[in-house]
Formats: sequence, structure tokens, C-alpha cells
Amino acid sequence: MAYVSATEMMQDAKKRGYAVGHFNLNNLEFIRAFLLAAEEAKSPVILGVSSGTAKYMGGYRAIVGSVKPFIEHLGVTVPVALHVDHGTYEEVLEAIEAGFSSVMFDGSALPFEENLRKSAELVQLCRKKGVSLECEVGGIGGEEDGVTKLGEFADPDECRKMAELGVDMLAAGIGNIHGVYPSDWPGLRFDLLDEISRVTGGVPLVLHGGSQIPAEMIQKAIALGVRKINVNTECQLAFAAAVRSYIEQGKDRVGKGFSPRAMFALAIEAVKSVALEKMQLFGSAGKA
Ligand SMILES: [Zn+2]
Repeated sequence: MAYVSATEMMQDAKKRGYAVGHFNLNNLEFIRAFLLAAEEAKSPVILGVSSGTAKYMGGYRAIVGSVKPFIEHLGVTVPVALHVDHGTYEEVLEAIEAGFSSVMFDGSALPFEENLRKSAELVQLCRKKGVSLECEVGGIGGEEDGVTKLGEFADPDECRKMAELGVDMLAAGIGNIHGVYPSDWPGLRFDLLDEISRVTGGVPLVLHGGSQIPAEMIQKAIALGVRKINVNTECQLAFAAAVRSYIEQGKDRVGKGFSPRAMFALAIEAVKSVALEKMQLFGSAGKA
């Protein structure tokens, strides 16, 4: 069965020096796009589900019920993990119950001691259930108005404590940003990544906001221990551009072009292309 946790994926990525792409689902079309891309690239893949997507797609159970049969339907053989993205403690419990194979508990907004305590509880639970767990250490913003411009910076000592709990993956801010990067973004802090990597004893690190980061920065981050890279914005932009072009060319007015399947066909291809490109860049292509 191709439906697995991310634990072995992370161990293999660490051993062979690559990163696995985490691609966010936004609707059913994204499931198709990412599964096809992963199978074509012979790459492991992590499908991410935010709270917003969970609500939109009918809740965690509905998503598990879509993804598992979809894997079978397409004859996917590569490992696929279904992962909660930025879940609260309650959401993580609900998703595990629903059959998710991997979860991220985001306690980064909580006081660190509480984040650590809840993460420790979840390490135990996830081990028992065979579910992989990602936790996040809160970030320190850049200068006064710099939070959006610089991204956030994690405290290496907090990263070490979190890693010692035995989490499978650790998200730590090194200047990365969710969404579209500002034109004056100064880039990732590799000195900080290097330090976090050293003090956390090789725990697979996660780079959130992986869209639009230049290729050479991505490769350097992988060399320094990043094993999971989250991509959403670039896929959303590709989807939107394809739908826009379809409508602007008036294709919805030709024959059965108004059918949603016809309308989204090129959008699925566009999202799939982004995923294929990332799988090559991350080095996960050909590893499954
Ligand atoms: Zn994120």
C-alpha cells in the first residue's frame, strides 16, 4: 500500500541527502495533480491539509476517504503520506482518529513550555498509532517592521529541546515566509540553519514557505539538513493562471468547454508541472 507515514521517507531522505516535497491540497484537483506527479517522478510525496482545506473538503474523514481510494484508483506505487499542516492539538487528535498518516502540531504561538509539553504527549500518541509527527518552534520576528520582510527566526536552544522529544520532523523559522515573498526579502539565514542542524542531532528539518525560494538556496538548505519542504503558493498561482488563460481564451464557450472537468484539466497539468519541477529540485525524484 502506498499510503504510509512520513517516518521512513524522512529517514531515507536523510540517508540519501534529499528533501521530500509537502504539497498542500486545496481541492480534489490537487489530489490528482500531486499523485500523478509523484508516480511519474517516482518520488515519495507528502500531501498537506490545512484547517481551511479540511473545512472546505468536508473534514478530515472525507479527505482520508478521498485520498486512499484515489491512490488505488490511479495505481500509485510510490509512498504517499497524508499530513495535517499547522494543526492545533485538537485538530491533530481528530485527524489521527480519521486516519491521517502524518500530522503537524503547531504550538508555535503557545508559551514554549506548553508547546513542549503538548508535543511530548503527541510523540507518545503518534508512536503508538504509527503516525509521523512534525512540531514547530516559535519564531522571533526580524526588526520592528521586519516580520513580514525577514520571516521569523527560531531559537536553537528551543529547537534542541523539541528535537530531544523524538519528533520525526521539526519546523524552525530561518527567515522563510508563508505566501508570496517580498521583493526585498534578504534570503534564508544559513548560519542559523547550520546551528539548528548541529544542536538538533540530525532530526529532519522542515522548511515552510518553500514557494519561490531560489533553487540554489533550496539546495543549500537541503545540504544543511532540511528534509521536508512545504509548497503551496506556487501551485495555487499555477492553478489560477491556467484557469484565467482558459477563460480569457473563451474556451468555456466552445462546445462542452463549460464542464468543470474540461475547465480544470489544464490547471491540473499546471499544478502537476510545478510539483514535478520541485521533485527534481528537491532531489526526491527517482528515489521511490
Ligand atoms: Zn507552514
